[in-house]
Amino acid sequence: MIVTADPQAAHDWTIVNSRIGRVAFVPTMGALHEGHLALVQRAKELADTVAVSIFVNPTQFAPTEDLARYPRPLDADLSALRAAGTGLVFTPGNEQIYPPGFSTFIEPPSVAQSLEGELRPGHFRGVCTVVLKLFNIIPAAVAVFGQKDFQQSLVVGALVRDLALPIEIEIAPTVREPDGLAMSSRNRYLTPEQRLVALCLSKALRAVQSSFAKGERRTDILNAVMQKELHAGEPGGVDRVDYAVVADRYNLEQSDLATNQSVALIAARVGTTRLIDNMLLHGD
Ligand code: AMP
Repeated sequence: MIVTADPQAAHDWTIVNSRIGRVAFVPTMGALHEGHLALVQRAKELADTVAVSIFVNPTQFAPTEDLARYPRPLDADLSALRAAGTGLVFTPGNEQIYPPGFSTFIEPPSVAQSLEGELRPGHFRGVCTVVLKLFNIIPAAVAVFGQKDFQQSLVVGALVRDLALPIEIEIAPTVREPDGLAMSSRNRYLTPEQRLVALCLSKALRAVQSSFAKGERRTDILNAVMQKELHAGEPGGVDRVDYAVVADRYNLEQSDLATNQSVALIAARVGTTRLIDNMLLHGD
């Protein structure tokens, strides 16, 4: 069953002849791709009913970011979710999530401070606030997030733990194109030439993993390996590297030496499109 927003009601829907049972929830901003659908598949394994939200959350975009141009192909999204066996789809309007007078925001956990938190002020405040609100609207036992947004998965984990939210968090692996590019709704902004340049991110992550597996542990060297790959190729690689760092996979702290608990994280700009990717490092 597909449920779309009733602008008059905060969150009432009618379910007829359907056993809801245990619900697994997948929050998204739409423009769905195989990465999102893999979360839906994982959610199906975890519960009787899968609920998906599609909401381009304005409070997690800075004024300079791509809120207005963010793709919103709702009909295609609903067809894909129907075909994937989604039970409930929640597509609220802005006024449903942020009615007049809305003024309560979550102060994000400490793991939100570095990296995306530093480069996108207010981003995780918006993420935490909308995630908590969606959790309160959708009666789910478990929510599935993607490793693709690695810091976000840590932030949501901390939010749930710190506020004792009655929900489990499941993290599903990043789904990639056959050539390694991490799937992203923003990939559709890329021209064919830019898409080739965008491959630098996954190449840089494979290169750093290879160095780590060969025994390199110095993070300055590992970070330099990523920088080199990001600036390699024609016409000189990505247009800007926001960060390319090895950090602790639980708290994102950066130290001199990498360990088996490290993760490599990259954010870079190709043209006007900002892409992120990451890889857990493992020796062998
Ligand atoms: P978004 O619509 O970009 O807000 O993403 C919604 C959810 O899908 C988040 O939990 C993302 O981490 C996840 N996601 C996005 N891209 C991928 C991908 N390539 N593989 C797995 N999960 C993804």
